[in-house]
Amino acid sequence: MAVLVLGGAGYIGSHTVDRLVENGYDVVVVDNLVTGHVDAINKKARFYEGDVRDKEFLSGVFDKEDIEGVIHFAAFSVVPESMEKPLKYFDNNTGGMITLLEVMHDHDVKKIVFSSTAATYGEPKQIPIKETDPQVPTNPYGESKLAMEKIMHWSDMAYGIKFVALRYFNVAGAKPDGTIGEDHNPETHLVPIILQVAAGERKELTIFGDDYDTKDGTNVRDYVHVVDLADAHILALEYLKKGNDSQAFNLGSSTGFSNKEILEAAREATGKPIPAKMGPRRAGDPSTLIASSEKAREILGWDPQFDDVREIIKTAWNWKVGHPNGYNDKKGN
Ligand code: UDP
Repeated sequence: MAVLVLGGAGYIGSHTVDRLVENGYDVVVVDNLVTGHVDAINKKARFYEGDVRDKEFLSGVFDKEDIEGVIHFAAFSVVPESMEKPLKYFDNNTGGMITLLEVMHDHDVKKIVFSSTAATYGEPKQIPIKETDPQVPTNPYGESKLAMEKIMHWSDMAYGIKFVALRYFNVAGAKPDGTIGEDHNPETHLVPIILQVAAGERKELTIFGDDYDTKDGTNVRDYVHVVDLADAHILALEYLKKGNDSQAFNLGSSTGFSNKEILEAAREATGKPIPAKMGPRRAGDPSTLIASSEKAREILGWDPQFDDVREIIKTAWNWKVGHPNGYNDKKGN
């Protein structure tokens, strides 16, 4: 029996494929390579290039492979882009989920682990954020993912397809051996942008706003190492294999770091000065996002190994130094 990973060539997907292979699972990857990288996929996984919305293609994969469960990462995830192109997000993300569940239903596959997001909560009502808090997204990306959670819920009611929705907070880092890592184009996330400055690819970091109601005025976020996040997917799959009910879990460290603190941590981790300036707020940024991840720890037995943000950044820096041009740079492979 195999685990099907949709979006397994992406940042979090490729780390999850790698951890599944390391843990002895038989892994099948589907990815359309629009944002993913073929070189990110562990060579022991069987790879099918295609789109999750292509029902014929996806059915073919389910016909050929003996799929016991699905882990679904395939989605667009750039918040500002989603504000400008909402239909692109609803088509690919939400539409893709409908096709996937149809094909799963046709093939009697009853387990799905889904990459959801803290963006489904919108502006938090309380800190730390609990799974039972209201979900009121402030952008189409979060809305597309919330719709996907709801579609899974009704597919569970009707067809008995059980799901785990993992609501990620901020993910960073890379596999500690530096063989796989984060490579987005364009890059929009704080840690990889800081490391581009450290590497001399960008002149300086612009911090988006220092007039928030936080400890130093900059946004506060909750960072998790990508390998710890990957391991949560494997625990979620095992949870479903035991016959448990559908659930949603927050995945965060329960600790908040301000953007200024992340910059300082990166200066320490890299030994580089990393010039930075203050800029205006970025539209749609909540002031503070910190997860309560007690539920994942208690029910899934999730035990993140990286609790120091400097160590997380060091692993990202290790990947960056080995692959200055990401997957286009074959030197480090
Ligand atoms: N950020 C920043 N400068 C940048 C990129 C990001 O100040 O060049 C800030 C952003 O405003 C937010 C934090 O870094 O407060 C994390 O942003 P990111 O896009 O990495 O993740 P998000 O929290 O939006 O999921």
